[in-house]
Amino acid sequence: MNAIREDEDMALASHDFGHIVESRPLGVLAARSCAAVGELVAFAGTQGVPVAARGCGHAPYGQGQADGGYVVDMGGLDEVRCVPGDRTLVAGAGATWGEVVRVGLAEGLVPPVLPDHLGASVGGVLSTGGFGGSSHRRGLVADWVRELEVVTGTGERLVCSPERHPDLFGAVLAGLGQCALIVRAALRLVPAPVRVRRYRLYHEDPAGFFTDQRRLARDGRFSHVAGRARPALGGTWSYMIEAVAPYGGELPRVDDRLTGDELSPGDELSLRDDLLIGDLDHDRDSEEIEDLSYVEYLHRPDRDERLLRATGEWDRPHPWLTLLLPEAAAAAFVPAVLAEADQQGLRFCGVVQLRPLSGRVLGAPLLRRPPGELLCLLSLMRTAPPTDPGTVQRMVAANRALYERARAVGGVLHPVSALPMTGEDWRAHFGPDWADFARVKEQYDPQHILTRGYGLWA
Ligand SMILES: Cc1cc2nc3c(=O)[nH]c(=O)nc-3n(C[C@H](O)[C@H](O)[C@H](O)COP(=O)(O)OP(=O)(O)OC[C@H]3O[C@@H](n4cnc5c(N)ncnc54)[C@H](O)[C@@H]3O)c2cc1C
Repeated sequence: MNAIREDEDMALASHDFGHIVESRPLGVLAARSCAAVGELVAFAGTQGVPVAARGCGHAPYGQGQADGGYVVDMGGLDEVRCVPGDRTLVAGAGATWGEVVRVGLAEGLVPPVLPDHLGASVGGVLSTGGFGGSSHRRGLVADWVRELEVVTGTGERLVCSPERHPDLFGAVLAGLGQCALIVRAALRLVPAPVRVRRYRLYHEDPAGFFTDQRRLARDGRFSHVAGRARPALGGTWSYMIEAVAPYGGELPRVDDRLTGDELSPGDELSLRDDLLIGDLDHDRDSEEIEDLSYVEYLHRPDRDERLLRATGEWDRPHPWLTLLLPEAAAAAFVPAVLAEADQQGLRFCGVVQLRPLSGRVLGAPLLRRPPGELLCLLSLMRTAPPTDPGTVQRMVAANRALYERARAVGGVLHPVSALPMTGEDWRAHFGPDWADFARVKEQYDPQHILTRGYGLWA
C-alpha cells in the first residue's frame, strides 16, 4: 500500500470548494494504483473508520471529507486512454474532464454529455450524476458509462456494468459514493462537432423565458441549452438562454422553394438562424449570435474561473443550492425566490443557473428527479464573504428553507448542495427506492465506512 501522508495533504483534505464544513482525517492516501485503494479500504473496514474519495475537491459541504478516517486522493489515478475503434475512452477516476476532452478530441470524439466545468474529476462527477449543456437531450454524464472498476466497502475490486453486477453499477452512478469508490471508468464517445454557433437570447419576462426553455427542451433543435437569471436594473432580474448548435459552415436546406443556388451566403445564414430562433419570444434587439470552435465553447467557463481565482472569490465559502423542479412549478417558483431579501446577495456575487431538462432521458436510477417530462434545474451558486461565519450560516439556513419550499411544489434536491440533511430527509429523498439502496449498501459496504460526508445513514 502507498504511504499514508500526514502533511499538507491533510489540510487540503480537511476542506473543499464549499469552505463551510471542515473535518480532519487520520490520513490521506495518495492513490497510485487501484490495488492500493482496495488495501486501504479493506484496512479501514477492519478498524471501522470512514473512507472517502477525493477527486478535485469541488464538493460544497464536506461530502468528500472523512472525519477521523482516511481520504483517498484519486489524483494519481489520472490515466486517460481513447479506443477510437470502440468509441470508448477509459479514464482513471482522478482524471479531470478537461483531460478526457483533450484525449477524446485528438480522435475527433467526445462524451455525449460533459459537465460545464471541466475541472472536476471523473469519479466525482459520475458519483453525483453530472449535468451539462446537452442533458436536455442526452441525460446525465453518468448515463454514458459502459463499465466501471470499483472498490467496494470491503476493499474488494470489482468490474461492474449493465451486464456484470448490475445492482452495483446502478448504485454507483449518481450513488454518492455510498456502495463503492470508482477507480476507473469506460465512457462512450460520439463524434465531436468542430464548430458551433452560439445564441444568447435575453428575456425580461420570466414567463417568456420558461416558455422558450420548455420548447427547446421538448424539440431538441439545439445540441446544448443552458440558462441564467441575471440581475437587472431596479432590483429586478432578466433571463438569458444560451443555446448552441453544431455549425460546420454547411447549411441545411431550409425551404423547398429556395435552393443553395438562389441564396447568397448571408441569406443562408440568416435563414438558418431564423429556423432555429425565429419562433422564440426573446428580445430581438439584444440577441447575440457567435461562431466558436467546439473547443472554445467547451472551455467557456475557464475565463470566469481565472477571474474568480484572481479576485479570491474562488476560495471563499460557497453555500450553493441546486434543486430539480417540475417545469410547471419553476415558472412561478424561480421569480418569487429571486425577489426575496434572502437572495439579494446573488445580485452582487454569484450565479443563478437555470437548466431545462427532460425527465425522459435521465437514466441513472439513483438520480432523484420530480415526476413528469419537463424539469428545470435551478442552481443558486452563492459566494459568501470570507470572514463572516454568521452570513454563511444564514445562507445555509436559507438553503434549508428553500429546499423545504421546493419539496412542497414537487421539487427534489440535487445533493451537490450546502445544507444540513437528516437521515429522515434522505429516506424521503430516495422514497420507494430507499429499501433497495439500503440492501445494496448492506451488501457492498456492510460497515458503512464509505463517503459518510453526506450523512445518509445517520
Ligand atoms: C465551479 C463548479 C462548476 C460545476 N459545474 C458543474 C456542472 O456543470 N455539472 C455538474 O453536474 N456539476 C457541476 N459541479 C459540481 C461538481 O461536478 C460536483 O461537485 C462533483 O462531485 C465534483 O467532483 P470533484 O472530484 O471535483 O469533487 P470532490 O469534492 O473530490 O468529490 C465530490 C464527491 O464525490 C465523491 N467522489 C470523488 N471521487 C470519487 C470516486 N472516485 N468514487 C466515488 N466517489 C467519489 C467525493 O467523496 C465527494 O462526495 C460544479 C462544481 C463547481 C465547483
